[in-house]
Amino acid sequence: MTDWFERGFPHIWLPYTQMKTAPAPLAAARTLGSRITLADGRELIDGIASWWTAVHGYNHPHIVEAIQKQARVMPHVMLGGLLHEQAATLAARLVAILPGGLTRVFFSDSGSVAVEVAMKMATQYWLNKNIRKRTKFLAFKGGYHGDTFATMAVCDPEEGMHTLFAGILPEHHVIALPREAETAAAFDAFLERHADELAGILVEPLVQGAGGMIFHDEHTLRRLRAAADKYELLLICDEVFTGFGRTGAMFACEAAGVAPDIVTLGKGLTGGTLPLAATVATQKVFDAFWSDDPSHALMHGPTYMGNALACAAANASLDLFERENRLRQAADIGEFLGKALGRCIGLPNVADVRARGAVGVVELDPAPDLNALKRRFVEEGVWVRPFRNIVYLTPALTIGEEDLEKLTSSIVRVLSA
Ligand SMILES: *Cc1c(COP(=O)(O)O)cnc(C)c1O
Repeated sequence: MTDWFERGFPHIWLPYTQMKTAPAPLAAARTLGSRITLADGRELIDGIASWWTAVHGYNHPHIVEAIQKQARVMPHVMLGGLLHEQAATLAARLVAILPGGLTRVFFSDSGSVAVEVAMKMATQYWLNKNIRKRTKFLAFKGGYHGDTFATMAVCDPEEGMHTLFAGILPEHHVIALPREAETAAAFDAFLERHADELAGILVEPLVQGAGGMIFHDEHTLRRLRAAADKYELLLICDEVFTGFGRTGAMFACEAAGVAPDIVTLGKGLTGGTLPLAATVATQKVFDAFWSDDPSHALMHGPTYMGNALACAAANASLDLFERENRLRQAADIGEFLGKALGRCIGLPNVADVRARGAVGVVELDPAPDLNALKRRFVEEGVWVRPFRNIVYLTPALTIGEEDLEKLTSSIVRVLSA
């Protein structure tokens, strides 16, 4: 063990971790491309891209350079009363690539806060119109929208991460996604009864990520848009997982031809370098705040919102999406993952194998011994982080075929043992 690890680890509180029983984390020394080098010299091929943020691989020179350049000019300046070039440029660029109608960008520093802001925006949208009973949200089973209090309340309540807080959280409605006739009928019946108490519908388009890597389709998303239109609800697409090429389109809602009223972005926004998130609203939503009444303003303002280093990184990341064909790469990865992980079909305990864009999933039944599984993957020289009953890959979109082959054959080998 290294010095800094010995000294510092006793003071670290890790995410989602029972600190008493969990194995110690590995000491990471360096990253490059799709590799993580540990302090003891071992090298791991990364299948997760640090919670799917590092879409161009780690340490991409173009992003690193943009951050260094910005650091010399102005690392940060408050966005209250001041605007800077990187944030302004990024806002205009995001609006240009998002589906039509989304025109106003509110920056924050994490996906959870971006969703909180979306929920506040949608709630206040109605309050500003003097409609006071539209205060609840409709969200979906299998969904994940963050770990803060408002976002916990719209995650799948049985999914495990937040069950402890049941009864303490604000109450919203979480029902099955209307994917086929039966759930669609229940969805319609629900809206008939409850639509007038709803501010909006909140969904992860096409892939429900951290809730279980569950796929749904364009048709389901269009059904949500149609229902939102019928009952005048705001449709919020949480693209914190799906945005920036993960599903094979730049944004998942765009693949479905669905224009949301509000979209949330995070994770891949800075190419895995700095924390930055955004909540983007349509003109219609923004107009509800445009008033001579100061109390109609959106009262939110994270201290580091629009951080100049992070915005510079995001602008550089968008350069790379423009110059290099990431979406083609995502589609190719999906094709590879579908075939290569398909070798798991028929293994004992494998319930399902699926791939879409740069997301590959092996679903197990029953749930495995996660710590043992994680240890086996490290022994194989790969960084794969199963959760609950899900073994998944969300690699950098730039990952090479050899690395992908190593990742998938490790999964096949470990699950075969
Ligand atoms: C990760 C995630 C969030 C939360 O983002 P943080 O940056 O971890 O707060 C919200 N929504 C979705 C869909 C996510 O995948």
